Amino acid sequence: MRIIMLGAPGSGKGTQTQLLSKYFYIPFISAGEILRQESKKNEKTKSYIENKINQGKLVNNSFIINLIKKKIKKKNCFNKFILDGFPRTIKQAESLKKHIKMQFVIHLKISTHNILNRITGRLIHTSSGRTYHKTFNPPKRKNKDDLTGELLSKRKDDDKKIIITRLEEYRKLTTPLIDWFKKEDLKQNVKYIEINANKSIHEINKKIILYINKNNKK
Ligand code: AMP
Repeated sequence: MRIIMLGAPGSGKGTQTQLLSKYFYIPFISAGEILRQESKKNEKTKSYIENKINQGKLVNNSFIINLIKKKIKKKNCFNKFILDGFPRTIKQAESLKKHIKMQFVIHLKISTHNILNRITGRLIHTSSGRTYHKTFNPPKRKNKDDLTGELLSKRKDDDKKIIITRLEEYRKLTTPLIDWFKKEDLKQNVKYIEINANKSIHEINKKIILYINKNNKK
């Protein structure tokens, strides 16, 4: 099973990815998380990645493509993974297409009003990348990670000013991908579905699972 999660920042890609990964027992690859981990490696990489992320801009296509390619080739991801946050540009999608046969694209559609609500309440467990939301998906203990009990924090790029740039990058660079995937769907290269992501985490999850179970058999 090869699933691609598409949607604006704050549409719930990360949350749904984690749930789907548990439900279908398949690993997930989160582009943002890979970049955050990669930035711990050396000063030069750290400053390049942090600059981009903290400005709300996308990193260079070839930079992220190389990192993702390495992950996909790993044994545990062979032919089964959920991609969260990749591809984000047509260039990235074309490169991915050369290496794997895509199967499902789940596009989470959400209103701008809800994006802002979701992002401003988001909390993250830095070392694992697990995400929570103060209201919609709170941790069991206030401000603590459910598994380790370690303190949760806010992502620097979840600041209101940076969100505006992230949304602008999404509109400019990622939304053209929607038509690209629709065309791939018509050619039967992938199954593309749009899900109303203005609903609760549980409702969205149920819809995605239903769709995948129904179409995975065909
Ligand atoms: P995310 O955790 O998915 O919200 O990603 C956080 C940030 O990482 C984005 O705002 C970008 O700066 C960078 N990033 C994540 N995925 C990609 C990608 N596929 N292409 C380029 N930059 C990315």
